[in-house]
Amino acid sequence: MTTGPTRPPGRVGPVASGDRSGPPDGPLPTTRTTIGTTMANDDGMYPLRPGDRGAAVADVRAALRSLELLVPAPADGGETESETRYDEATELAVRHFQQVRGLTVDGHVGEETYRALSEARWSLGDRLLHHDPERPMRGDDVTNLQERLLELGYDAGRADGILGPETETGLRAFQRDYGLSADGQCGPATLRALRQLGRKVTGGRPQLLRQSALMVESGPHLIGRVIVLDPGHGGPETGVTAGETTEADLAFDLASRIEGSLAAAGATAYLTRGREQNPSPAERTAFANDARADLFLSLHMDAHDSEHARGVASYYYGTGSGASSTVGEQFAHLVRREVVARTGLIDLGGYPKTWDLLRMTRMPAVRLDCGYLSHEVDRRLLLDARLRGTVASAVLAAVQRLFLPAEADPPTGTFVLDRSSSSG
Ligand SMILES: [Zn+2]
Repeated sequence: MTTGPTRPPGRVGPVASGDRSGPPDGPLPTTRTTIGTTMANDDGMYPLRPGDRGAAVADVRAALRSLELLVPAPADGGETESETRYDEATELAVRHFQQVRGLTVDGHVGEETYRALSEARWSLGDRLLHHDPERPMRGDDVTNLQERLLELGYDAGRADGILGPETETGLRAFQRDYGLSADGQCGPATLRALRQLGRKVTGGRPQLLRQSALMVESGPHLIGRVIVLDPGHGGPETGVTAGETTEADLAFDLASRIEGSLAAAGATAYLTRGREQNPSPAERTAFANDARADLFLSLHMDAHDSEHARGVASYYYGTGSGASSTVGEQFAHLVRREVVARTGLIDLGGYPKTWDLLRMTRMPAVRLDCGYLSHEVDRRLLLDARLRGTVASAVLAAVQRLFLPAEADPPTGTFVLDRSSSSG
């Protein structure tokens, strides 16, 4: 009963991606691109390097984009020849990917990097997972399966992304315990069971669950809390600009306002930089780590060539394959929704990222991109000091909500700090 419409074993490995028409869980997401189609043959195409052109480069770019390491193609000209060029942005994205994956960072796509890109594009549910002794299945979906089994207390071996005999044994044990046919194949029914159980343990690895528990136990007050605010850019690096006004200045103004509201609520708030400074990401994160901060919030505004781009986005640490910070994710959503509810800025959603700023901070860390200076309406709002005061109140409310027990959590946009109770 675990098997649905699946393809025969042996044709489902990452390299055989020309045949991806019938995945178990319905149509593939459109972002899941087929890097395998033109690069599957080990025929000496590697390595690809800056300056190269061709369909193989377009595939690499598409794979990087599906991992959100490369910005989306412009909606008007997605198929232009620039998509086939191994340009500077491609190289940067490849370097970033290599760094996150622990590969040699050279900016070239050799066989190892290609294989890792290929593995990274699989999400749990994309294909039927099973143990193939001849050619073990590899991918982020396998890692995710292993992590879930381990969370549930099954010995699935190390979460290394390779489906070996130990993982199969763990999977069969899980299936037996949950009344599924113990066939060692992870199909739709097994996935459903894993997902339902996953919800009960709130999707976290043990140390992340501990992190959540600590947050709740320490109560609703902000007294004793240390929050580090990180205004983006600074000094000679202005970020994006709107006439005379720079992102660096606006972020600094915003951070100062938030610092004031947090201090009024009894928290200790620090800024990572002075008005004229521009510390490196490593310095910013080291500052927060040294301060033993409970929370780290980086503040930016955005801009885009398209005058239509607008809205608020938030980012938290995560690879999109299960290894994410649950508290960071929670705060990323809270803060963005509070800002959206109070300002009328558009909600662009929250996303996992592996940026150094989010990865090297030891506490929950979030980056908020608060509006587009290139958009007429966003810009007018952001240049208004009252609006920035509203954003500061929204951030304060989100911080308060993060530290409140879940059952006491008020609806978004309504929470007002009671100053009389915060002074005690
Ligand atoms: Zn910025």
